[in-house]
Amino acid sequence: MKANVTYWLDESAGRWPDKTAYAEEGKAVTFGELQRQAKALATQMLERGLFKKPVVVYMEKGVDVLVSFMGAAYSCNFYSPIDVDMPASRVNKILEVLNPALVITTAALKETFSNYEYQGGFLLFEEASHAAVSEEKIEAARRRGVDTDLLYVLFTSGSTGVPKGVTITHRSVIDYIDWVTETFDITEKDSFGNQAPFYFDNSILDIYSTLKSGAATYIIPKNLFAQPVLLLEYLKEKKINTIFWVPSALIVVAKLKAFRNVDLSDTLKRVLFCGEVMPNKQLNIWRKFLPEVLYANLYGPTEITDACTYYIVDREFSDDEPLPIGIPMANTDILVLNEKDEPVAGDEIGELCVRGTSLSMGYYNNPEKTREAFVQNPLNPFVPETIYRTGDLVKYNEYGEIIYLSRKDFQIKHMGHRIELGEIETAVSSLEEISLCCCLYDEKKQKIVLFLEEELEKSYINGQISKLIPEYMLPNKVISLPKMPINANGKIDRVKLKELL
Ligand code: AMP
Repeated sequence: MKANVTYWLDESAGRWPDKTAYAEEGKAVTFGELQRQAKALATQMLERGLFKKPVVVYMEKGVDVLVSFMGAAYSCNFYSPIDVDMPASRVNKILEVLNPALVITTAALKETFSNYEYQGGFLLFEEASHAAVSEEKIEAARRRGVDTDLLYVLFTSGSTGVPKGVTITHRSVIDYIDWVTETFDITEKDSFGNQAPFYFDNSILDIYSTLKSGAATYIIPKNLFAQPVLLLEYLKEKKINTIFWVPSALIVVAKLKAFRNVDLSDTLKRVLFCGEVMPNKQLNIWRKFLPEVLYANLYGPTEITDACTYYIVDREFSDDEPLPIGIPMANTDILVLNEKDEPVAGDEIGELCVRGTSLSMGYYNNPEKTREAFVQNPLNPFVPETIYRTGDLVKYNEYGEIIYLSRKDFQIKHMGHRIELGEIETAVSSLEEISLCCCLYDEKKQKIVLFLEEELEKSYINGQISKLIPEYMLPNKVISLPKMPINANGKIDRVKLKELL
């Protein structure tokens, strides 16, 4: 039994030592180099006596970050990436929660980090990755480590302003990636085009499917996501056959119809997405231009190691229909609970709750927030059993598939009616002219506010969508923006939009 993800790396490095594992523009590491450099970093950590300790990785996105992650894993410490563009006050909040034992960074970035509230040690990547390897020390650590030891902590925003550190174990990643590689039949012949930042949970699929199956991951330069034609040309040039992006990134490509300039029909095999609603209107454009591709909608929060349900697109959808989030992944159970904490019946709406091996151990150093979301399974009063309450409202459709409706906290009461803002957004985004839209509720003025990128009259929009939703759901105000604000994870930034209310 493998209790540590680095056994995958040992296997891949043994089978394909000279094959590219991870690449960025102008730089790549083979599985052999990845293993050697990661072991060198691990040795340094173990020589400092670190075991099961939090290690911050503070570097520009690139292959060296992934080498550092593997170094932490080999030494049975756990990593937490911090974005170099994160504001100092947020970095300090994270450091306070995490209290890292070590920071892996570069000589140049060490200077920046010295301004933060951190007194601990540093490991400079350029030196430590060339240091000597102690196989004995690494083996001793891995023998001592267990699969429920932490592999990483990813920080997500917290409602109180203090970021929450989602903890994930080796076992959770092994469980999830076993499912991913089997379900999508990932082998050493595959190449991923990575979009997700490494502090965002979507990146787990790219990083660890590659590690396990001997595939390759190309880190796509960020600026290409604003230039769809160049982006598709990049995929073609690198022979990338699998992408796992946030829907916003796919929407941009669909919107500008870049497929007309670049033919990916011989290149792209799988288009997977997760993280937010994928509107069928834009997915239908992808499907029209690339009908042979496998499309899959994955759903899940960071707390369940990226995803817990999936839907492999297997039928036609009209532009205004929601795309299902599907069925639970293997070894994962979904409980849809109503307000009385009972399983929903029929198409009743309930909160999606989840249990399974890939569930987080809770928020690092935050028992209060952990207690709120990680609760005893109300259907099992007999033994301790944790479920995670996602706060997402869903229902089952006639196929027994789960349909995502909205966040629990975006459910509103408007003029006495209970409304899911997501339902309005689905209706609006099905309109021909609309690319991105977002609905918020202005509590003070009791108004449904619709944000969009196009200059369109409220009367026109409401005239159209009144065919899809009841009158009481029609937006009371429409705000056209030159550009929809997008947060660090590539999703619509609702916090920024709220400021515009
Ligand atoms: P994160 O922890 O950043 O991955 O965000 C998780 C949240 O994103 C979920 O609780 C959902 O609200 C939303 N989400 C993730 N995947 C999907 C999806 N496929 N469809 C709709 N919403 C999604």
